[in-house]
Amino acid sequence: MRSFAQVIWQNFLKPVVDFALPAHCSFCEATLADTEILICASCYSKIQPADSQLIKHLLQEIPESALDEIFIPFVFTLEIKHLIHHFKYKRFENLARLFAFSIAETIKKSHFDLVTGIPLHRVKKRERGYNQSDLIASHLAELSKITFSDQILLRNKYTQSQTKLSRNERIQNVHDVFRLNTDVKNKRILLVDDLITTGSTINACATVLKAGGAVFVAAAAVATPATNIN
Ligand SMILES: [Zn+2]
Repeated sequence: MRSFAQVIWQNFLKPVVDFALPAHCSFCEATLADTEILICASCYSKIQPADSQLIKHLLQEIPESALDEIFIPFVFTLEIKHLIHHFKYKRFENLARLFAFSIAETIKKSHFDLVTGIPLHRVKKRERGYNQSDLIASHLAELSKITFSDQILLRNKYTQSQTKLSRNERIQNVHDVFRLNTDVKNKRILLVDDLITTGSTINACATVLKAGGAVFVAAAAVATPATNIN
């Protein structure tokens, strides 16, 4: 059992000290600069980049893919896992710009008319306070000079979390979830999510966009946990 002093330290004093002192990198303990969040620039630069073969494989594995290309800067390493967890569940919204910067580096040579995040159901958005993929997409829009819109697609139903589902269950789970809300005829569109696992969610969005007349649809994410290259 924890002593009274430990409880006081953990719950009342430590948060005050952490707030008052300069923050440290979660991985190497270096003092963070004002512009750094959770991870120092040096540790961030050492995160394993996603291999182009892995991304090609991921795209090929998506059944009935409506995606023309996928852009992913990182493999889902422990560092990325830690950062994304804080970004999604601990309100470290500022990480969106760091993620967007890394994605922007990978899409340099491509042209897009519009960029958007995967829509969240309004109930989920209210719970979390923000749509994490729109946040990355809006920073990406600014960095890569693409028009951002969060009104391209709408989410029809509140789906259960994808994380514990099998590949087939994921495909069924996202069927008929999204609908078009704008004219996308002849547009080149970039869809953004934080992670792409099997690609079923982002492909469901791409399918709706292509049905609406979009000429080119690509997906971008911070990382992918996909590893199986045969
Ligand atoms: Zn570090």
